Amino acid sequence: MTISDVINPATEELLSTVEQTEEAAVDDAVERAVAAQRKWARRTPADRATALRAFATVVDAHIEELAALEVANSGHPIGNARWEAGHVRDVLHYYSATPERLSGKQIPVAGGWNVTFNEPLGVVGVITPWNFPMTIASWGFAPALAAGNAVLIKPAEWTPLTTIRLGELAIEAGLPADVFCVLPGKGSVVGERFVSHPEVRKIVFTGSTDVGKRVMSGAAAHVKRVTLELGGKSANIIFDDCDLERAAATAPYGVFDNAGQDCCARSRILVQRNVYDRFMELLEPAVKGVVVGDPSAIETEMGPLVSKAHWNSVSEFVPDHAPIAFQGSVPAGSGYWFPPTVLTPQRDDRTVTEEIFGPVVTVLPFDDEADAIALANDTVYGLSGSIWTDNLSRALRVSRAVEAGNLSVNSHSSVRYNTPFGGFKQSGLGRELGPDAALSFTETKNVFIAVQPEQEGAH
Ligand code: NAD
Repeated sequence: MTISDVINPATEELLSTVEQTEEAAVDDAVERAVAAQRKWARRTPADRATALRAFATVVDAHIEELAALEVANSGHPIGNARWEAGHVRDVLHYYSATPERLSGKQIPVAGGWNVTFNEPLGVVGVITPWNFPMTIASWGFAPALAAGNAVLIKPAEWTPLTTIRLGELAIEAGLPADVFCVLPGKGSVVGERFVSHPEVRKIVFTGSTDVGKRVMSGAAAHVKRVTLELGGKSANIIFDDCDLERAAATAPYGVFDNAGQDCCARSRILVQRNVYDRFMELLEPAVKGVVVGDPSAIETEMGPLVSKAHWNSVSEFVPDHAPIAFQGSVPAGSGYWFPPTVLTPQRDDRTVTEEIFGPVVTVLPFDDEADAIALANDTVYGLSGSIWTDNLSRALRVSRAVEAGNLSVNSHSSVRYNTPFGGFKQSGLGRELGPDAALSFTETKNVFIAVQPEQEGAH
């Protein structure tokens, strides 16, 4: 049996230990999930809806506990962690409406009746990253359960605690055992076995683009369905006709939220050249004003990085000679702290092209609308982005031209449970959330029922 340590990133203290699931235990869980899924799918839609609502109610009663766990395990500021736990409840409520709405279609055809059914896939494997452990888990498990599937979920090694707790809360809420099962462990063991096991019919993977490609190629051997939510290098485009004060005041929160460990982080700020100097003057106090510190304090806006290994990886992007324009501050003492950092590199620098996944943002000037669009799209990624302009036509033109799945105009909003979320290009495949997500956990079955023509003279 392997036990792994879970560390509090704000204090570097041992928080807990977690038993790592071995391959044989994954196989057992899959076998039990196959049997449990058949019973779950046979329940009436109203019954499944009631079970999901009960799960949401139990999560709601544990918001403070889940939030405190995330503060301790991931270093998320308490305000953010409360929002995340509430989001899990809301996602469950939203998809509790799905079982009674997966109605298929009746299609008019000659010679009979034609109907379609949205059949569940079977067992779904959800593999999550460490940056938003419980919210991202819920984006997979809620619609998958709603569509009649069983779910096995593997949290990231560094941040398993809230997902493990959600597994316990599901049982407390009355969800059948083995329909929703949390299997903490290594990606190379549990994650790989999800991909290679023939009875796991779909993988929902959120994580790095490199591992996502590996998951996709492994899934191909079984023609296994995949949803992939991968990396990002999103642009925050500031045009000269926008409310520059507001754009500068909000830019830090578009990238430094969750210490920049956010796939949607607007980590490239692109500024029209004629307002560049003024924007930088406004940005400096905004960056220095970000409150970095004890994640359990309500006024804290940014916590530490998740681990020492990740701190090392982010630090490599900011060597001694880095073109630092200005930086925020961090607390002294233990904890994996990294200050909000603004760089002004060349367009081809690796800080501009690679995902840093920390509180480091690059600022580049652009000449005109065409240059801004070309620069925004000059990346293998395409997840998110923001466009700041008070010109409605420009907002619409640029929104259509930027190759990314989630854009916001004059704001940095990306995620709502009721709108679709996902990436273009190497940022992913498929969409989570929104009204259609449950369909990606179903197969469409078409059934034609012949109707004999009425015999002549029968009446
Ligand atoms: P990661 O790819 O290292 O790990 C993600 C998960 O995959 C972990 O649970 C890990 O254990 C597992 N894993 C590792 N190797 C595996 C393998 N061979 N087979 C199967 N599973 C394996 O990513 P990370 O460092 O945890 O997360 C950061 C990355 O996630 C960033 O690139 C970020 O942009 C991305 N991300 C994307 C989204 C999105 O919605 N697009 C959301 C959050 C994070």
